[in-house]
Amino acid sequence: MSQDKLTKIVSLCKRRGFVFGGSEIYGGLSSVWDYGPLGARLKKRIKDVWWQTYVEDREDIVGLDSSIIMQEGVFRASGHLQGFADWLVDCPKCKKRFRVDKLEKKDIDLYSCLDCKSDIDIEKYKPRKFNLMLKTNMSATEEDPYYAYLRPETAQGIFVNFSNVMNVTHKPLPLGIAQIGKAFRNEVTTGSFIFRMKEFEQMEIEYFVNPKEAEKAYEYWVQERLNFYIEKIGLKKENLRLREHDKDELAHYAKGCTDVEFNFPFGWSELEGIANRGDYDLSEHARVSKKDLSFFDNIKKEKYIPYVIEPSAGVDRTFFAIISDAYHEEEVKGKIRTVLRLKPNFAPYCVAILPLLKNRPEIVELAKKVFYDMKSQWPAVYNDTGAIGKLYRRQDEIGTPFCVTIDVDSLTDHKVTVRNRDSMAQERVDISKLKDYIAEKIKSY
Ligand code: ATP
Repeated sequence: MSQDKLTKIVSLCKRRGFVFGGSEIYGGLSSVWDYGPLGARLKKRIKDVWWQTYVEDREDIVGLDSSIIMQEGVFRASGHLQGFADWLVDCPKCKKRFRVDKLEKKDIDLYSCLDCKSDIDIEKYKPRKFNLMLKTNMSATEEDPYYAYLRPETAQGIFVNFSNVMNVTHKPLPLGIAQIGKAFRNEVTTGSFIFRMKEFEQMEIEYFVNPKEAEKAYEYWVQERLNFYIEKIGLKKENLRLREHDKDELAHYAKGCTDVEFNFPFGWSELEGIANRGDYDLSEHARVSKKDLSFFDNIKKEKYIPYVIEPSAGVDRTFFAIISDAYHEEEVKGKIRTVLRLKPNFAPYCVAILPLLKNRPEIVELAKKVFYDMKSQWPAVYNDTGAIGKLYRRQDEIGTPFCVTIDVDSLTDHKVTVRNRDSMAQERVDISKLKDYIAEKIKSY
């Protein structure tokens, strides 16, 4: 059933223009995806809500937009060049490549292939270590290369700008630096859609604190980020949970880490990680770059390297979670109706205007007028390219909460029919009261 749901979501995303395969007309590019017209809208909303919540609405966090390509030295200091690697093994039967830590363990050294289910004896088929960093040549010639790296997390752009930001903001600690941007990892993946991509987008905050306050800040951020998914993104509580990492699971730099997990179609998996990274990053960058990255607290007359708490979220995984949570199928008059029950603020369009007769100029004129009126307040779409039943189904599939039809009677009674996506109930509403009507209905989501 779950695999079935995943297949249906992938197909809907493609059919309706949420997500396309990368470089598709050339046969595609493994684990690279493009967002279509509707996907681009939804993705932007996610980023806007996050940015508004943390950068605009707070005084203890500032924004940053640092570059994707970074110098080798950065990743020598961060440990990514040496340590950012996965152990991979090829299945002897189906030849597919897997991460050893994701395989099903059957016995000591014996695993089961995730695809063809045959045994993989890792004593015999030795796993190899693959670095996950994507490298690029910034030199004009191949003979004399100058290698730089595409960042595997936006965080490093924040650490290398720590003193720049402190110098210009003159803010006390705790201070967060927030950034939304692309990150790149040469991941090995099998059919996990946008859950695991080679190019993806992160929303990260590095929250710098006095080491004495780090534990408290870490606990605060774990709860804050869980609440964000419930209250601001509107994911169902029962599809979210926290999972604290065991000591032996922690990254080499981390003092503590908790994942916010979501119940994806293929099971519970990480949506976001919140880590207490200690002073590892700033200390290492200070050591390798030979720059002083400590902070002087003017009031307490204390000098120290701050600890950092990092809530690191994925835009693409949030997108996936929203679609997955909203996806519904139900039987209506013997047929399956697919509907995305998106919250109005995440639906690509809040209102669809559908004129019933496109050959009647007076109806078209009135429909256009209503359309522009709606569009001035909410994202709206005008569609007259099919029979009404088909148009409703299309809007249901993309999650448009309200469809407004304009018919012959509208010309005389100045009313339109509003159809509710979830209940399919229809109501006649005065055109002059349409905005108030929709605004009121939105409040109930
Ligand atoms: P996983 O264990 O699933 O590989 P991770 O622990 O390596 O994830 P982090 O390094 O903690 O991930 O990255 C923070 C967040 O960035 C993740 O919670 C996720 O939302 C997002 N993310 C990481 N890698 C990818 C990817 N390959 N594709 C899409 N999103 C990703």
